[in-house]
Amino acid sequence: MSNQAVNMADMTEEKKRLLLKQLLARKDQGQAAAQEAGEIPEEYYRVDKFPGYRMLMEQMETFKALAMDNPYFSAHEGVSDHVTHIDGKDYINYSGYNYLGLSGHPEVSAGAKAAVDRYGTSVSASRIVSGEIPLHRELEAALAHIHGTEDCVALVSGYATNVSVIGHLFGPNDLLLHDSLIHNSVVTGCQLSGARRLAFPHNDYDALEKLLVENRKQHQRVLIIIEGVYSMDGDIPDLPRFIEVKKRHKCLLMVDEAHATGVIGPRGFGSHDHFGIDAGEVDIWMGTLSKSFASCGGYICGSKALIDNLKYNAPGTVLFSVGISPANTGAALASARIMMREPERAKRLRAKAALFLECAKAHGLDTGPSSGTAVVPIILGNSMHCLRLGQKLAQAGISVHPIMYPAVPEAASRLRFFITHNLTDEEIVYTVNTLAKELSALK
Ligand code: PMP
Repeated sequence: MSNQAVNMADMTEEKKRLLLKQLLARKDQGQAAAQEAGEIPEEYYRVDKFPGYRMLMEQMETFKALAMDNPYFSAHEGVSDHVTHIDGKDYINYSGYNYLGLSGHPEVSAGAKAAVDRYGTSVSASRIVSGEIPLHRELEAALAHIHGTEDCVALVSGYATNVSVIGHLFGPNDLLLHDSLIHNSVVTGCQLSGARRLAFPHNDYDALEKLLVENRKQHQRVLIIIEGVYSMDGDIPDLPRFIEVKKRHKCLLMVDEAHATGVIGPRGFGSHDHFGIDAGEVDIWMGTLSKSFASCGGYICGSKALIDNLKYNAPGTVLFSVGISPANTGAALASARIMMREPERAKRLRAKAALFLECAKAHGLDTGPSSGTAVVPIILGNSMHCLRLGQKLAQAGISVHPIMYPAVPEAASRLRFFITHNLTDEEIVYTVNTLAKELSALK
């Protein structure tokens, strides 16, 4: 495959697009070479021969041959709120989810520094042994307040939260039903649990209902998993309808609030705030500290019974895993306090997103189902166009990432813009005007 790259210049756009699609599709498929008689193939014991690595190298060759900087590996040297610096140049940043602009906020940096001064750089143990600091419980109390729940447990990673919590709570007799666009961490958690897993079409509570009518009674516990705001499309599911379905069929409901907390609801407290529902209607609220909370970590909010069960029983939540570092806890706690004190931040963020959306629609750009959230896709339906347009925007001082097949179907290839609190109206108007101009030049 890599040897073909030299002829790229002669290929039509369509052929290049197909080649790119094939390459991206092959990335994870890795097929072992035919096993020669009696010999163990190298790809079974040498990491540099692993199929995933080989695919990656081929992919990079292709990007090079297409005269494109590899969009995945550029180092951002010093990201400050909504501007990022790459190779000494400033870019307006749409490629990070610093939604409320709190990463870089002096109070949040001070919270992290004070925590390091007091507790050091690591808690050096699992919380159940000696790794708990008072800041952990203060953070969890603030998160429980924001989500309107009895209790909360916070851990070192958002991804690990979904994996260990779903993996622990459910097993082979259970059924896990998730939205088809759910985050990979949920899918991994479902796979590790050993439970049966079915996906229902995006946001389709009627299709979910049908699956439950057909399958509910053959299983013990059934968990429905959705996101409060979807990370690729920026749309909001009809949570009250999902609650009705889960009650009708005696299921549990889990909502991943990674992109909802700090963004939706009058106070920016997420889905329960947005819909004005009692948070107790949802069994498991999951969130991350890496977005609006300007830190690193994940958490679960819910009833005391749920949190106690996770804390003392779930491997990877508290057991067998270190407590969140003082710096990350201090930063997240300071962010949570700002979020509670300044609800106008979420409002301003949504106003910025609305402006972006309005400008994009005025230019006739396809923004998919995004509405009222900080994720705005510009759907191009062509991976090559995504890469080229991303490059053109970079040349114009705008940093945004392409999302292509297989992360989304080819027809849904897009540039995904994360809107953040500190963007100015001028930057947004400039961005969308540049986007529209470069896109029409490309077609
Ligand atoms: N859930 C969703 C919906 C996400 O988008 C992400 C990652 N951005 C995660 C969970 C994992 O969170 P983290 O990156 O903080 O580990």
